Amino acid sequence: MKSFEAVELYFNRAADQLELTDNMRKLLLTAKREVQVQIAVEMDNGELQTLIGYRVQHDNARGPMKGGLRFHHEVDLDEVRSLASLMTWKTAVVNIPYGGAKGGVAVDVRKLSERELERITRKFVDELHDVIGPDTDIPAPDMGTNAEVMAWIMNQHNKYHGFNPGVVTGKPVEHYGIPGREEATGRGVGILSLKTVGRLGHRPQNTRVAIQGFGNVGSHAATFLHAADCKIVAISDVSGGYYKEDGINIPEAIRYANEHRHSLEGFSGAEKISNDSLLELDVELLIPAALGGVITAENAAQIRAPLIVEAANAPVRPDADEMLAERGVTILPDILANAGGVTVSYFEWVQNRQYYSWGLDRVRQELERVMTCAFEETWELARERDISLRTAAFMLGISRVGRATVLAGIT
Ligand code: NAD
Repeated sequence: MKSFEAVELYFNRAADQLELTDNMRKLLLTAKREVQVQIAVEMDNGELQTLIGYRVQHDNARGPMKGGLRFHHEVDLDEVRSLASLMTWKTAVVNIPYGGAKGGVAVDVRKLSERELERITRKFVDELHDVIGPDTDIPAPDMGTNAEVMAWIMNQHNKYHGFNPGVVTGKPVEHYGIPGREEATGRGVGILSLKTVGRLGHRPQNTRVAIQGFGNVGSHAATFLHAADCKIVAISDVSGGYYKEDGINIPEAIRYANEHRHSLEGFSGAEKISNDSLLELDVELLIPAALGGVITAENAAQIRAPLIVEAANAPVRPDADEMLAERGVTILPDILANAGGVTVSYFEWVQNRQYYSWGLDRVRQELERVMTCAFEETWELARERDISLRTAAFMLGISRVGRATVLAGIT
């Protein structure tokens, strides 16, 4: 099943509950605009390389479109389209005044020098600057991009349209960014993991956690849960998995990764395991925080965790979702679990527009407030209707976008 078909399936389950007409479903699922651009750049060795870049702008009924920019060799239009749609439901679930979008460039960042990465980013903006902006579509970091890339986007966009830091979020704090943005997605994952663990009757001290992916999201979720007394027994990145029965020293793992170009390769504080076996560990909480589609019909039966918190976007395939639901596994869906990043991006955008700086305490407090409110609404709706947390979250998102669309007038 393709990525967009998976989102469509989840959407339709919620749309059935909402009794949406076919015409309304089609309207809400169809992207406003899809852009594909050529990115021709000169590499350091003088060779010409031609890449493909995408920006899918899914919906703006509730505000400017908002979504990350992914640099990864597996990026294609179907994936970007599905992620753009997820952004629309995500911003609506946490009730921030945005729509949804997503961008991507099919490139392997590990093979790029810093200068090549910058040239590709600036060229992408050259091709797209007219369709993004603080009131239309606001990119942010995702896999393969970071605060520095966001600074280049702002700088390049400003060359065409004048100074306006609100064109992009996730910028460095020294360059119109907001404190707490980098940690926000992982912290939000941590906050809602603890809430769900509590609702399921467990205590952090008795919660063993396995986290796949130790990049921005995975490492910050690990830091938060480690500080909350959970036992992080496994972590992983593209180099493989690392397991320690009595808990990994997370600050030490982070120090190691920082000293080794953000890689855990060679980390000796734990036993080496494969990324596949990490997913199947006997733990209370499993957090996929790397790629999409890692839990499938093939490995779902082997998953032993009673709770999965989707830190990555779309890590559980729909057929696996059904199998896990039948076994009573609780899944906190991506559109709620990883919404902390876009929430703090929203604070950054507000700060940029007001020329007023927020402190870290305020950011953390507001993040917790927004995430908790969305969690409570989703949990309540799921219990009331006896449906999954995913269907409940989609229902909340779709109904908010649907109402805004109708209120504005459709034709
Ligand atoms: P990142 O690039 O910082 O980190 C990705 C991590 O995944 C790295 O540790 C990498 O080594 C690991 N990885 C890559 N391929 C892997 C593989 N095949 N097996 C195991 N590990 C692998 O990216 P990130 O920003 O942490 O994003 C991770 C996920 O979270 C993505 O799905 C992204 O869409 C989602 N997400 C990110 C944000 C954000 O604010 N950064 C917000 C919402 C959702």
